[in-house]
Formats: sequence, C-alpha cells, structure tokens
Amino acid sequence: MDQDFLVSVLDVHKDNLQFIWPSLVCSIQNSSFISLDCELSGLGSRKLINSQAVDDRFINICEVAKTRSIISLGLSCFKLSGPENDESSKNLNFSVQTFNLMALCSEDYVVEPSALQFLVTHGFDFHKQYSQGIPYYRGNDRAGKGKAKKATWDLRDLFAVVISAKVPLVLHNGLVDLVFLYQNLYADLPTKLSSFLADLEVMFPNGIFDTKFVAEFSVRTNASFLEYIFRSHQLKNMNLKNSSRAHVICNHTLIESDFIDFWDCSPRLQNEEDLEICSNYINHGFCNSESNCKKSHDVYRAVLLEDQKKAKKRKRKDDNNIARTEVENVINITRSSRQERFKGHRAGHDAFMTGFCFASFIAQKMSVRPNGANTVCWKELVAEVADVRNRVCLSGKDFPLLIQKSAFSKCSKSHLEKYERLFPSDEAN
Ligand SMILES: [Zn+2]
Repeated sequence: MDQDFLVSVLDVHKDNLQFIWPSLVCSIQNSSFISLDCELSGLGSRKLINSQAVDDRFINICEVAKTRSIISLGLSCFKLSGPENDESSKNLNFSVQTFNLMALCSEDYVVEPSALQFLVTHGFDFHKQYSQGIPYYRGNDRAGKGKAKKATWDLRDLFAVVISAKVPLVLHNGLVDLVFLYQNLYADLPTKLSSFLADLEVMFPNGIFDTKFVAEFSVRTNASFLEYIFRSHQLKNMNLKNSSRAHVICNHTLIESDFIDFWDCSPRLQNEEDLEICSNYINHGFCNSESNCKKSHDVYRAVLLEDQKKAKKRKRKDDNNIARTEVENVINITRSSRQERFKGHRAGHDAFMTGFCFASFIAQKMSVRPNGANTVCWKELVAEVADVRNRVCLSGKDFPLLIQKSAFSKCSKSHLEKYERLFPSDEAN
C-alpha cells in the first residue's frame, strides 16, 4: 500500500471538539498551506448561481448562503518539512493532518431534497449531524461574547484561527464555499461583489488558490472535477518520482485514536476493466444513474488511458522512447473492487485531494526549474505560482474572478469591525 495515500481523517464533532481544539489550532498555525471543503445543505437553483452577469451571480449565491447552511467542513493542513537530508530536500515532503468537522447551524435553514439524496447515497450521516454537529450561528458576531473568557470553542472561532494563520488557502471551485464561509462563520456578507473581493484579499493576504482554475487554465486536464484532477496529479507525481525528479511526499501524521478513520485513496485500478468507461462520469464527475449505471466510473483508469494516448503521440513524434517507459512503470499497480469512497467523511477527503493537487502542481513547477530544485523555500515556491493566485473559477466563463481590491472599492463595514476584533493592533485594510 502507498502510505502517501493512506489518509488519516480526524472526525471532529460537538462531543470531542473541546478536547481536540489545542491540536487543531496547532496544526492550522504550523501549516504551510490549508485546503478547505464545505458540504452544504443545498445550492438553490443552478441557473441563478450561474447567472450570466457575475454581479448577479454573487447576489444569488449570497441569498443561498443566507438560507442554506454548512453541514460539514473538511480541513487539511499541509506542513512542509525542513530538508533533513539531501535525499528529501529536493522533494516536497509534507506532514498532513486532515479533519472532518460535523456542523449544525442553530438557525432555521433549507435542506434541499436533491442535496439530501446525494449526501445520503454518499454515506453522509444526518443522524450524526443532528446529534453531534458543532453548533454555529450565521452573520455578524453577537454582542457580549467579546472580551469575556470563552467557555467553549466553536466553528466561528475555528475560521478565525484559519484567518489568523495567514497561510495560502486552497479550495476547489471555491466561489460558493467562500461566500458560505463568510456568511456562516465570519460576518454578514456585503451587498457588493467588489467589497466582498476587497475583504477576502485582506482576510487571506497570502493568497487564495482554486485548484479548478489551475486545472482549467494552467494544467489543462481533460476534465476538471476534483477526483479527475486528483488522479491525474497522482499519476504525474508518480512519473516524477519514477524519474527521480522533485515530487510530493505526504506523511499523514495524526496519531491513531478512536476518532480517526483511514481512507485509502492510493492509485489503483478497480476491477472493472471489462466495462466500458462511463463518459458522463469521466467528463463531469457525476452520472445521472449513478447507482444503476453499468459502466465503469474508474477515474484512475480514464486518466491512465489518456496518459497512454498522449505518450503514444509523443513516441510517434520522437522515437527516443523515454515517455513510454514512464508510463509502463506505473501500470504495475494493484487492483481492487470499487472503492468505498466516503464513509461519511467526504468533506475531509475532498479537502485532502484539493491540497494534494496544489502541492503536486507546485512540485511540477519545481521539476522544470533550470537549476534543479535544490532550495525548498515555501514562500519562494508559492511566489513562483503568482499567475494562479487569487483567481477563482467562474463556471461557464473563460475568465476567472479576481480576488483583489479595485481602486474604486472599499472593504465592508462588517468586515472592518470583525477584523478589528480579531487583530486589534493590525491595520484593518
Ligand atoms: Zn455512469
């Protein structure tokens, strides 16, 4: 088994949050970057959240974030280890800690039947959410909770810790998640998109990265849903490793406890090779007849086949045969039956996959450096990918949303007040 992809996920809920809190905070504060994923109680009408005009789109997503809720939150903290010896210093060696937090909004909210159905078929445990979800309220901080010593920590405090860590934040297709996080765990949303973007730039001074944007505009994979880009990054990472170039190594460092589940997402083929690949699933990440579909949903196989096709093309062009051996090295892998993917920890799994995609993207940049990858200075590496920084995917558009304060925009009042409470001595804008 590939230990890099035996992910340990810590299950955090109402009954163990206070106990886990110190290690959770420590993990966030020490990370080189954080990846996040939200599970939501619904998205409203797809037509509205994908409106033609981007400003309308924002207003519609805001409305959804005020009426729906976050039902679980996945958080993966990636910490780059220092170069301990020559062997490891040329690679990106990460210590990874992944958390899956069950959330329960204490105000009324809409649960959409379609979202409910989807979550239940993917192993989401609503019973556990209602009995053990960590409660939170939406909107602005409530008075009276300010200076007094807190008895308990909640999800709003957790989001404040994420902001104060001042590390790059990585999301996949992050716009909806950002709007939800803001309204549900930070403050009331501003009415203008320009203010929202100005606020975000201040909240995350080390940048927000969207792995979907990276996939579509920079890496240009065939499909850009999370599992597809994760599997293609796994394959590329393996190719880099096999050719002794800079690659990502993950050490999942959470210690085994009652609250930890292990998720094996190592690259392997499912026993479905006699089945035709379901083109719906492979292009979009979902299939309308998912449970009855007789075709294969093995994303890893699709990614391998695509890679082989490209390798053949390369071989035809240049008969030196190098690309070919790379592919043959990785074909030698284990097979398993269709994987039980989520076990109710989808948010945690998605957060890890998102983080791995970002790490692997950086490693690929390192591997083509002219003078090798001798220095592993995280800040420098992140600075080298500035062209994908603060750019979030807008579905159906051929341009991203830029997270930046424009010359004519102002930060919102809610944000300024909240930020002043979080960092009293800092400049709020
Ligand atoms: Zn299918």
